[in-house]
Amino acid sequence: MISIKNVSKWYGQFQVLTDCSTDIQRGEVVVVCGPSGSGKSTLIKTVNGLEPFQQGDITIDGLSLTDKRTNLAKLRSKVGMVFQHFELFPHLSITQNLTLAQIKVLGRSSDEATQKGLALLDRVGLKDHADKYPAQLSGGQQQRVAIARALSMDPIAMLFDEPTSALDPEMINEVLDVMVELAQEGMTMMCVTHEMGFARKVANRVIFMDRGAIVEDDQKDAFFAHPKSDRAKEFLAKIL
Ligand code: ATP
Ligand code: MG
Repeated sequence: MISIKNVSKWYGQFQVLTDCSTDIQRGEVVVVCGPSGSGKSTLIKTVNGLEPFQQGDITIDGLSLTDKRTNLAKLRSKVGMVFQHFELFPHLSITQNLTLAQIKVLGRSSDEATQKGLALLDRVGLKDHADKYPAQLSGGQQQRVAIARALSMDPIAMLFDEPTSALDPEMINEVLDVMVELAQEGMTMMCVTHEMGFARKVANRVIFMDRGAIVEDDQKDAFFAHPKSDRAKEFLAKIL
């Protein structure tokens, strides 16, 4: 589904990703963790075509990001992304937030987009909030709308970059619950998160990054039971 092959990236002289490779199968849930500055956000953004890279290749559903014949905008619309900071449009209602891209990018009718948007809003437990504006929702609610918005595009995979790390503790679980449900329904997911409870519950694999490199890429149970590198052991000792 998602294949990352020998990807390296530099910002000027600084190498931010070093020879990163991994394959994510359909329906697999992969958690990416590692210290601050290790390149997790950069890696996940390269997967979505948001960050260029100088070496290697990434293919999504068989389409290469580096192949000039690939329609990047179309490919990107098929991969949902949810960031740390809720990126809802502040001047649009929740319904409008949920329908805009469906109408503009997928060419759905306003009725069809609204129906789909409201069904997803219901699914994330917010059906009574359709006519509100983002500022009228809590952080956890906004993040659930962001997930619903990504799902409205019928993505073939979902990427998350620390979707709960800017939330107050009592809101973290309501967002994680939505993510757990998605995972259990078979969505292909790549999640940067330090929520190891989530990882233990639904991840198939855990990737540990350090200084731009994928240091460990292991089945979940193996990762938690026997992290191989000292860096991963240290990291786990700190966050568990
Ligand atoms: P965090 O856990 O803090 O989110 P991260 O693992 O997501 O960290 P990245 O944001 O991918 O790390 O950053 C990796 C490295 O690349 C960091 O050293 C960062 O300072 C550097 N970096 C990120 N974006 C840029 C940029 N636009 N220009 C130069 N350096 C950058
Ligand atoms: Mg980051």
